[in-house]
Amino acid sequence: MEPGRIELVNARLPLKEEGRLYRLVLEDGAWRSVERQEEGWLAAPEALPIGQAGLGELRGAATVDLQGRTLLPAFVDVHLHLDKAYSLPAVRNRSGTLREAIDNYRAHVAGFSKEELRERIMRGARTAASYGSLLLRTHLDVPLHLGRDVAMRSVEAALEARESLRDIVDLQLFPMFAYEQRRHAELSEFAGETLRMGVDGIGGAPHLTDDPGAGIEWALALAAGADRPVDLHLDETDDPQMRTIGLFCDAVRRHGYGGRATAGHLCSLSAMPQEDAERLIAGMREAGVGAVTLPAVNLYLQGRGDRGNVRRGLTRVKELLEAGVTVAAASDNIQDPFHPFGRGDLLQIGLIGAYAAHLAGEEHVRTVLRMLTEAPAALAGVRNYGVAPGCAASFVVLGAASGEELLQELPSSRWVCRRGGWISASVLRREELSAGAEAFVGKNL
Ligand SMILES: [Zn+2]
Repeated sequence: MEPGRIELVNARLPLKEEGRLYRLVLEDGAWRSVERQEEGWLAAPEALPIGQAGLGELRGAATVDLQGRTLLPAFVDVHLHLDKAYSLPAVRNRSGTLREAIDNYRAHVAGFSKEELRERIMRGARTAASYGSLLLRTHLDVPLHLGRDVAMRSVEAALEARESLRDIVDLQLFPMFAYEQRRHAELSEFAGETLRMGVDGIGGAPHLTDDPGAGIEWALALAAGADRPVDLHLDETDDPQMRTIGLFCDAVRRHGYGGRATAGHLCSLSAMPQEDAERLIAGMREAGVGAVTLPAVNLYLQGRGDRGNVRRGLTRVKELLEAGVTVAAASDNIQDPFHPFGRGDLLQIGLIGAYAAHLAGEEHVRTVLRMLTEAPAALAGVRNYGVAPGCAASFVVLGAASGEELLQELPSSRWVCRRGGWISASVLRREELSAGAEAFVGKNL
């Protein structure tokens, strides 16, 4: 066995081509070759069958037989709140509204120690990695009005977690700065300090502040001055009059920040008249602003004031895609007052998004998978992403034989490899299932 060389046979690559089998070779952390098996199924008696393989066996294998399972480039979850993850037992949300989630979390946040925040971040990140997400962009709560110590706690916790997890998963840290004119100097100094400490970009939720325009301009100026990307929560409301996305696009154009600017949520885009939405979407494409939809969380939080015909809450995913805007789907919150469910599994988010955005046709499967892989990788600025020679060999193998089956079965069995090294194997063992359940997973390889 050559050092750092692994051969994979009988792999399916639904992002490339459905129905065919591939042989792949990786060396020193990067793909060396990706070739279609013209002869069809490859008998490879020397290969380790991946079916029940654990991490130890995988790490010793020079050749692995995927037995017709699906291989995807590692998921990129480009919008998370890992500092809030698993806080639900401590912070509830009786109304299910965004307002109550914010208020209740704010009332508790000073009581969370740095250690507790770090443990929650690490638990969330490890879990997401085990499902196949190897780059996580997490927004961080930095409530400066509660004092600098409280605001700095989540940043320090996240920096420590990022360092501890550096051999498993990559974290991008985006503090959510809340701009207020009267705190301009204090906030700018605090933000500068977090940038010196090593955060990766500028976050915020200007639609929740008194002067969104000033906050957006401040964020762009800060990002441009520090040469970091900007990723804001925008218009997470059913109110059709909330249109800060337009202000964001203007600022992105002024600062020449196309390609490095991301807008999350954009719920009000769905609530406003068609022609207004079309104009704003065209503005996003022209400015080079990417979009992130958070289907699970927005289905949960939005539409709470509606009766009868309850709105779905998420943004106009299909129209953004059709206009040529890069659109990713992401987890947002995991088991906290903003979202009581979720498990850090981006494939589950893809399924929920497929339902909510009517992207469930056969022709849409690849679109959904791209929203979990290539699109967020582009928004996160990942280079050498994909399954092609020269790209980093960071990937997930899933127990399904096609893209459609991924969404049908949400396979539990996943094997995750990061830059050529296996980091996780989660195997669903059929013998643990009852006879009835075994029949149910009959398609689940
Ligand atoms: Zn968010």
